[in-house]
Amino acid sequence: MKPVQDALNAILDTAKPVSATETLPLMQAHQRVLAAAQTSPVDVPPADNSAMDGYVFCTSDYNGEQQQWFEISQRIPAGTAPQRLEPGTAARIFTGSEIPEGANCVVMQEHCETEDNRVRVPGGKPVNNNIRPRGQDIRQGAEVVSPGDRLTPQALGLLASVGVAEVPVYRRLKVAILSTGDELVEPGETLAKGQIYNSNRYLLAGLLDKMGIQAIDLGRVEDTPEATLKALSRATLEADVILSTGGVSVGEEDHIKGAVEKLGELQLWRMAIKPGKPLAFGRVGDTPFFGLPGNPVSTFVTFLLFARPYLQKMQGLEPRLPQGIEMPASFERRKKSIRQEYVRVQVDDAGKMHHHPNQSSGVLSSTAWANALAVVPADTEISEGDPVRVIRYDQLF
Ligand code: AMP
Ligand code: MG
Repeated sequence: MKPVQDALNAILDTAKPVSATETLPLMQAHQRVLAAAQTSPVDVPPADNSAMDGYVFCTSDYNGEQQQWFEISQRIPAGTAPQRLEPGTAARIFTGSEIPEGANCVVMQEHCETEDNRVRVPGGKPVNNNIRPRGQDIRQGAEVVSPGDRLTPQALGLLASVGVAEVPVYRRLKVAILSTGDELVEPGETLAKGQIYNSNRYLLAGLLDKMGIQAIDLGRVEDTPEATLKALSRATLEADVILSTGGVSVGEEDHIKGAVEKLGELQLWRMAIKPGKPLAFGRVGDTPFFGLPGNPVSTFVTFLLFARPYLQKMQGLEPRLPQGIEMPASFERRKKSIRQEYVRVQVDDAGKMHHHPNQSSGVLSSTAWANALAVVPADTEISEGDPVRVIRYDQLF
């Protein structure tokens, strides 16, 4: 049996990132992967500006007298260009307004007293403050987003803040999904005897969507060599990567292995992982191929552990298999196993772990209930309270 990390390394070695790029307006670039460094053509903020609504002074105009009055010589709403501050006067200023030349101090309006067109600071001489200096956020020429970064909402905001209107990104990855199994029917249809609903199709479509990948849904594939060959061949025409579920064992009704061997090359591993069954990886023609197990819980876990990092690398991202953080186990494992186990757990708001009572790989509801996977390494005994690594879903998708 192959350890998880060995299999992942072997798979990742073969992943070739997409090289084609396109230029997109910022508004359409969310989730995409940046293809070239973006630097700032400006300082942000572009000028010293006020952090408060209040009055702006020059501290050297203070004559030392506590109650010195200053004439208000101009009003500077945000978005306007200020005049130089006339010596000995103050100006009305608002949050974000530019500090006029010759001024160096904003006093918040709550600390000022006004009368007619005059202002004074009863608290005494103000100190130099409440000014957000030019370039404090970003300096002109600084790299704000790096190639290979995913464009998160924060990154989009940052790019907008430096005036970048469009960005070069890698083209979107297209991944075909095939659900093998004569027993599968679609939600909305009526179940006949012997049939079950196709859940993997929707599970994978959602996981791919979360990654910003375009799913090419090829639906259900009958358990025959002909149908399998046909579906796989078709997938190579449309997709960068092919994912299938089920039919990957070596039973009479499992046709993935034979079909992939005919059309390309296959590596089939018995993975030292629970839940999980054989995982197939290879290529159909030149298109990379993953044969995930049919069991939906196994599909979920093997997708996250193997397909996801591979797809990340193809997208132009740094592939990541998060290591998680250690926390006390809510469960025990008295018998050592040769398989690394991924236990569906919930980490509550207080940071305490709870495990789903049914860890059977047929229980998809455990994955929906959970918000994290606790990792029990191979050959390890766990008592309640022992530290185990926990990978939260939000680190996985
Ligand atoms: P297989 O590897 O094809 O023998 O499938 C293993 C188990 O997963 C069987 O119980 C299948 O019925 C089930 N299974 C396979 N594909 C799906 C699917 N798309 N949705 C739900 N269950 C599935
Ligand atoms: Mg099957």
